Amino acid sequence: MAIANPGRSHTLFLDAITHRFGAVTAVREVTLEVAAGEMVALLGPSGCGKSTLLRIIAGFTRQTLGRVLIDGESVDHLAPSHRRVGIVFQNYALFPHMSVADNIAYGLDARGIKGKIAQTRVEAMLALVRMAGFAERLPRELSGGQQQRVALARALAVEPRILLLDEPFGALDKSLRLDMQIEIKRLQREYGITTIIVTHDQEEALSMADRIAVLHRGGVEQFDSPMNIYDRPASVFVSAFVGTTNLLPGEVVGAIDTGIAVRLDCGVTLLGVAVGRFAVGARVLLAVRPERLRVEGEPAPDRIAGIIKAALPLGATTIYEVETGDRRVLKLATTRDGESEGGVLRLGDRVHLAVASAESCAVFAAGDAGR
Ligand code: ATP
Repeated sequence: MAIANPGRSHTLFLDAITHRFGAVTAVREVTLEVAAGEMVALLGPSGCGKSTLLRIIAGFTRQTLGRVLIDGESVDHLAPSHRRVGIVFQNYALFPHMSVADNIAYGLDARGIKGKIAQTRVEAMLALVRMAGFAERLPRELSGGQQQRVALARALAVEPRILLLDEPFGALDKSLRLDMQIEIKRLQREYGITTIIVTHDQEEALSMADRIAVLHRGGVEQFDSPMNIYDRPASVFVSAFVGTTNLLPGEVVGAIDTGIAVRLDCGVTLLGVAVGRFAVGARVLLAVRPERLRVEGEPAPDRIAGIIKAALPLGATTIYEVETGDRRVLKLATTRDGESEGGVLRLGDRVHLAVASAESCAVFAAGDAGR
C-alpha cells in the first residue's frame, strides 16, 4: 500500500470487542487490525453494529469487553477528547452561527492552539479541502458538499491519529456523492491518515476502502480486500449482501481437479469453488454472479435453460430476469458489447445460460443461508 505520509500514520487494533445493550449484543467479539494509513470500511445492514463500533473507537461508548489500541497502546482509559480521533458525521454537525474558519479553529482552540499558529493551520486545512476563499462564510451559505469538506477540515485540523467517517455521504445526492468520495479518497491518501468509514452502501465500500469488514449481527463475517470480498465471499451472507448473486440449490456429486461438481435441482451439473468441506451427497447452494452468466443459443448439459421474463436497462449494462424450468428466477447481466455479439434479448426469448468457469461459482453449505 502506498502511504504518502507514513510519519503521520497510526495503527488501530480492535481486540475482541463485545458490546451489550442489556440483552442485545450489538457487537460480538470483533477483532480488526488496521494498518497505518489504511482505509477500512465497516459495511453491513442496518442494526449490524457499525455505529456502535465507531462510537467505541471514538470513546463515546465504553465497550462491555475487549480493548481498543492505537499504536499498540490501549486508549480505553482516555476520554474521547484525549484519544486524538477525528469524526465526520453524516449531518456535518457544523456550528451554524460560526464562520467556516471558526468552525475549523474550534478544536484547535480547545487544545490551546491559538493566534497565528491556529490561523496558519486553518488556512492549510482550507487549502487541503479546496475551500480557500470560503473562510468567512457561514455554514448555511454553503452547499452540502462544501459543508462536508469543512467538517472534514475541522476533523483533520487537530491532526487526529485516526479518522472516523460515519456515513459521511448519506446526505449528498448521487453525483456530488461520487465527487466527494473521490475527493476524500485523494485526501486520505495524500494525508496518509488511518481511516475507518462506516457505510451500508456496498459500492462505496468497494470503491473507497483498502479492506472491508463485512458485519452481520454484530460479528465480522469477512475482513478482506474489496476484490476478495466480491470474488471470494466467505459466506452466503457476504455473497448476497455485497453485489448481486444467484443462489442455486443442489447436491454435491463429486470433486475433480478443477472444482467441486454440484447437480443443481434444475438438473444441470456445474463446477464451483468450495467454501468449506463437503461430502458427496451434501446439500449446497451454488452462488453465481449475474455478470458471470453467458447467454448461449444452444442447449447443453452444463447450461441452464430459461425464458427471459424482464429486462432492466441500466445504461452500460442490462439486467435480465430469466425463469428456469424449476420456476426459479435468475439475474443475468450483459454489457452492450456482449449483446451486440449475441443480439439483443427480448422478453419471451428462450436462452441457455453457461457459466464461464468453476472460478465463477462459490459453493456454500445449504445451512449457511439461514444464519
Ligand atoms: P444503522 O446502519 O441503522 O445505523 P448500525 O449497523 O450502525 O445500524 P447500531 O446502531 O450499531 O447499528 O446498532 C446495533 C444494535 O444495537 C441494534 O440492534 C440496535 O437496535 C442496538 N442498539 C444501538 N444503540 C442502542 C442503545 N443505546 N440501547 C439499546 N440498543 C441499542
